[in-house]
Amino acid sequence: MTNTLNLIKVKLPDGNVKELANDSTVNDLAASISPKLAKVAIGAMVNDELKDLSTILADGDDVKILKENDEGSLELLRHSCAHVMAQAVQRLFPQAKIAIGPTIEDGFYYDFEINNHSLNEDDLTKIEQEMLKICKEEQNLVRFNIPDVNKQINDFMAQGEKFKAELLDEHKNECPTLYLMTDKDNKIIWNDLCRGPHLPNTKFIKNFKLLKVSGSYWRANEHNEHLQRVYATAFWTKNDLDAYLKRIEEAKARDHRNLTKQLDLFSIHDEVGPGLIFWHPNLGSIRTTIEDYWRAEHRARDYEFVYTPHIASEDLFAISGHLVSYGENMYSSMDIDDKPYRVKPMNCPGHIMIYKSKLRSYRDLPLRFFELGTVYRYERSGVLHGMMRVRGFTQDDSHIFCTPETLTSEINGILDLIQSMAKTFGFNYKVYLSTRPEKYLGTDEEWELATSALTNALNLREIAYEIDPGGGVFYAPKIDVKLYDAIGREWQGPTIQVDLNLPNRFDVNYIGEDGNKHKVIMVHRAVLGSLERFIGILIEHYAGAFPTWLAPVQVMVIPISDKHLEFANNIYTKLKTELKARVKIDTGSETLNYKIRQAQLEKIPYMLIIGDKEVENNQVSVRHRKDGNLGNMDVAKFFDLLISVIDGKTNT
Ligand SMILES: [Zn+2]
Ligand SMILES: [Zn+2]
Repeated sequence: MTNTLNLIKVKLPDGNVKELANDSTVNDLAASISPKLAKVAIGAMVNDELKDLSTILADGDDVKILKENDEGSLELLRHSCAHVMAQAVQRLFPQAKIAIGPTIEDGFYYDFEINNHSLNEDDLTKIEQEMLKICKEEQNLVRFNIPDVNKQINDFMAQGEKFKAELLDEHKNECPTLYLMTDKDNKIIWNDLCRGPHLPNTKFIKNFKLLKVSGSYWRANEHNEHLQRVYATAFWTKNDLDAYLKRIEEAKARDHRNLTKQLDLFSIHDEVGPGLIFWHPNLGSIRTTIEDYWRAEHRARDYEFVYTPHIASEDLFAISGHLVSYGENMYSSMDIDDKPYRVKPMNCPGHIMIYKSKLRSYRDLPLRFFELGTVYRYERSGVLHGMMRVRGFTQDDSHIFCTPETLTSEINGILDLIQSMAKTFGFNYKVYLSTRPEKYLGTDEEWELATSALTNALNLREIAYEIDPGGGVFYAPKIDVKLYDAIGREWQGPTIQVDLNLPNRFDVNYIGEDGNKHKVIMVHRAVLGSLERFIGILIEHYAGAFPTWLAPVQVMVIPISDKHLEFANNIYTKLKTELKARVKIDTGSETLNYKIRQAQLEKIPYMLIIGDKEVENNQVSVRHRKDGNLGNMDVAKFFDLLISVIDGKTNT
């Protein structure tokens, strides 16, 4: 009897139950399973919560012991590595004070206040070396409950660790803990305020990399202390770390903000204001081509093109509800004739005005209004990012007004357009269906109708999708499509929403077959989304090498010397007038190699080199920016080739 009182039972992932003495830790559990396991164990999931090895288990706990590489264990590694980094920084810069060091997606950072020193690249290398030493010292990370919080706050203050003192004061009622980093004789080497959990020992940390330093402020408030943030990452294997570093290198080389310097695409100006994009001729050409393609796609699908004003009386946004539900993203009002006006954050109310300009019958439906509509939305300056996150942008916005009977086929049509877009630009994609959230407008029947139309259309097209239960917006279930670019990064793509709110707010209806008024079904959809963002993604997706059909300059004609000028000019003119190609001719006096290199830097798809042989045989020597020398071709044959890659919108 007494025996059982001192025992607890815990459940293992395989369903087995293990009996342990009272007050046993995860570590004891591991040892009781096998000494080998105890050696490699680094932490545990206890009742689905990440815990230290030293965690004391309770009767009935579900325990999964974690080893390197197990799911969830990266968090332990990175969190522990952050403390190793902080210790290394304080060893090298004793004046450094510690702020916070959370894990983030793909890594972690730590904020430091270091008086009289700005960390540079060399420092990062030195810190890495110091970290390696700490890992080799095999320091233990020991959880320590702070017995006297006020004393500890005073100690922190005495050490100049004002940020830690402030944090501890804030969390004083939450059983705060220190993590002591100790040597093999349990002598304390260093400590940090943290709630954990961590690895038991620094010896498990082997593959890490400091990535960059940037400025930050204590509590992200620019009136507070200026801090230096060191970004870093850690992985279990060298392979994983190398693959990650390669991925960021690749992403850096593709960064649209860097590529604009090389390709002259767009600019943002301090004197204009952040988040406002200026499209230079090269990118303007790309955008025009995309818009032309997109208009043709919409014309073929019986969309009608509309245009709506950029400003509207505030009354409009009071009716639409945007003032209340979206007000913080809208710019403040301007007065016209003593009435407040607003810059539009969305095109929907405008399209509703067009719909409501006359009585509509079921025979008029569906109506598909399409607008490349420019909208302005407030974004905090901290989140603005090149063309990807801006304050003014143009959406390929459409609102479809239909009856309940045709809703499924309308969704089907939108999905068809989305699939054709993804194919044209070479994106893989994943589809999500977001259903009714806890708080919602509209009736259960309306939600059922809208959600089943979305589901039916997806099933009809045999599109695999994941359900995001409760992920819909309060007025609409929706389909979200995530796009995957050439290096596998995920981007928020097309959306379809069946709106159960605006038709009510604006009383948007039609006369049905029965002669009565019925509420119209309104679908919002954007496929490209913001053109700024979409084309920003394209720049990175193609790494600036736009396929021929999109390239601002498709062909560069390069005569080798002056005596080839006439023939070259002839080809240039034919390409321009007969093929309507975007073509340039390089008549400069530089060497052939130099001219090829220039065209290559501009990522021009085709170079036509004209010398004696070409003039003689009415041929061109064709060079492709990626495939290199394609050999000599009759002029007519090259023209056919060019037409086929442009018309086929191939990724060539
Ligand atoms: Zn920690
Ligand atoms: Zn809309």
